[in-house]
Amino acid sequence: MKPYRGRIAPSPTGYLHLGHAQTFWSATQRARRAEGTLIYRTEDLDPQRCRAEYSQAAMEDLRWIGIDWDEGPEKGGDYGPYVQSLRTDRYREVLELLKMQRLAYPCRCSRKDVMESAIAPHETGDEPIYGGTCRPPLGQARRFDPSSEERVNWRFRLPEIENIEFHDGGFGSQSFRTNSDFGDFVLWRHDDIPSYQLAVVVDDHDMKITEVVRGADLLKCTARQILLYHALGWDTPDFFHCPLVTDETGERLAKRTDALSLRSMRESGQTPEAVLRQFQH
Ligand code: GLU
Repeated sequence: MKPYRGRIAPSPTGYLHLGHAQTFWSATQRARRAEGTLIYRTEDLDPQRCRAEYSQAAMEDLRWIGIDWDEGPEKGGDYGPYVQSLRTDRYREVLELLKMQRLAYPCRCSRKDVMESAIAPHETGDEPIYGGTCRPPLGQARRFDPSSEERVNWRFRLPEIENIEFHDGGFGSQSFRTNSDFGDFVLWRHDDIPSYQLAVVVDDHDMKITEVVRGADLLKCTARQILLYHALGWDTPDFFHCPLVTDETGERLAKRTDALSLRSMRESGQTPEAVLRQFQH
């Protein structure tokens, strides 16, 4: 068996809340129990939403509740850099591989076009299912050649298979359907930013992650990512999704203000032990 390598991968778009803490705590516990290695990766691809101060705060807040890691941005390690914005060349290389295999195609559709031609109305919090306006016919690479100045999205061409099934360590067997749960998804954005789906697969592969522990809100993303692993001929890691933390009204914490951020708990005098006691099981 390969030695266990897990990761925690916060996006520095705000202060971490109890929900993040619980997921990252599970990831840490699983790595420690397996006597494995834990990696910290900063997922800061979107310059509009990410801020350096939040990266710093995330590390401080996680250390405050007792989470520490073996490889990461300031610690180094054999698979660095551990900051996504410093890894763009590698993501571009993999995008090129997918283009060569005719699995990535340029798409000119605006957000509005995508909404209007979507196959299914989109559920809250998820992207609409792409109607395929720019999808090339089978066997062709693309419908048009974008000029060097043209800003297009590059989309992943979903395979013809319809079911994606996988075993999840937390939630058991999972099954998703292409073009019903999700459509051709973006690999590279028109503003020249790699998508989360592409970057996370490349990183988890390159950093030799053996188990991905993440929140249950990402189950459908896991299904998309499995298709990318297959397309690239890479082994998939194991997956373990964690239940999402909700507040007293049942609302997901992510949608709330920073009332339950680790930072505000700390500032209001709570101890790390008191925070850990609030984890829901
Ligand atoms: N960066 C994501 C987050 O902060 C986690 C992504 C993942 O675990 O794949 O929610």
